[in-house]
Amino acid sequence: MAKPKVAIFSMACCAGCALQIVNLEEKILDLVGAIDVVEWQEGLSEKSGGNYDIAIIEGSIVTEKEAEELRKIRQTAKIVIAIGACAHTGGINCLGNHMSVEEKKSIVYDGDAGKIDGLKDAIQPRPLNAIIKVDAVVPGCPINKNELVEAVKCLLLGKKFRLPDYPVCFECALKENGCLFDLDIICLGPITRAGCEAACPSINKECNGCRGWVDDPNQNAAKDILEKYGLSIEDIKKRFEIFNAYKTEIMEKKNA
Ligand code: SF4
Ligand code: SF4
Ligand code: SF4
Repeated sequence: MAKPKVAIFSMACCAGCALQIVNLEEKILDLVGAIDVVEWQEGLSEKSGGNYDIAIIEGSIVTEKEAEELRKIRQTAKIVIAIGACAHTGGINCLGNHMSVEEKKSIVYDGDAGKIDGLKDAIQPRPLNAIIKVDAVVPGCPINKNELVEAVKCLLLGKKFRLPDYPVCFECALKENGCLFDLDIICLGPITRAGCEAACPSINKECNGCRGWVDDPNQNAAKDILEKYGLSIEDIKKRFEIFNAYKTEIMEKKNA
């Protein structure tokens, strides 16, 4: 029986999530036994011509050309997985979306933007699901590589891949970490989707919400921690800009 064809694509990003795939080591060897990686900007040079069972895509969309490429991938792939904050939420690429594309070009390139071919069709950065239907997301900046392996296995078995619907605080408590709020450090763990094994609080760094909001924060947030420190869900949502500026932008437009 033919192995499922998997392709990996990078849009606008630092390529850190694809690097996590390179770092999978033995696990990728397991996976490679079950799949055929037919296209990979980081690893393969030959073009396969499409018809993928799974397209794994990192990065956000920042040009019309990328948007077109993304639509073509969607037409030819049975399953599309968005990996990493850039692809999932738009990530840090959307931080400047409060300015127009022309304003950004003039600030960054000081009048020389017109000479750069790649900027001619620049658009406001956006996540993949603003342009195409995405079947599954592996969130984070960078992704948790074990979660990606689980997602691919699950989807190849025809199952729905589900992310945790509880917040980072739960994983933080399991690790018996002290709470950073006790050190007067604002941490977004109470409303951020778990699955990173509380990576940042475990090294005494605050969570900045790279995995996006937990499903329905009003139901699933760690409200007990917020209540203990006199905060509301809305108070900490306001700090979600770094990785979730696109979502904030959409909500502001809706509320305008
Ligand atoms: S999500 Fe983070 S690590 Fe992944 S590509 Fe974007 S910036 Fe890089
Ligand atoms: S608020 Fe942050 S540091 Fe405190 S328990 Fe939650 S994740 Fe851990
Ligand atoms: S702790 Fe927060 S910022 Fe750090 S990896 Fe997890 S979700 Fe991302």
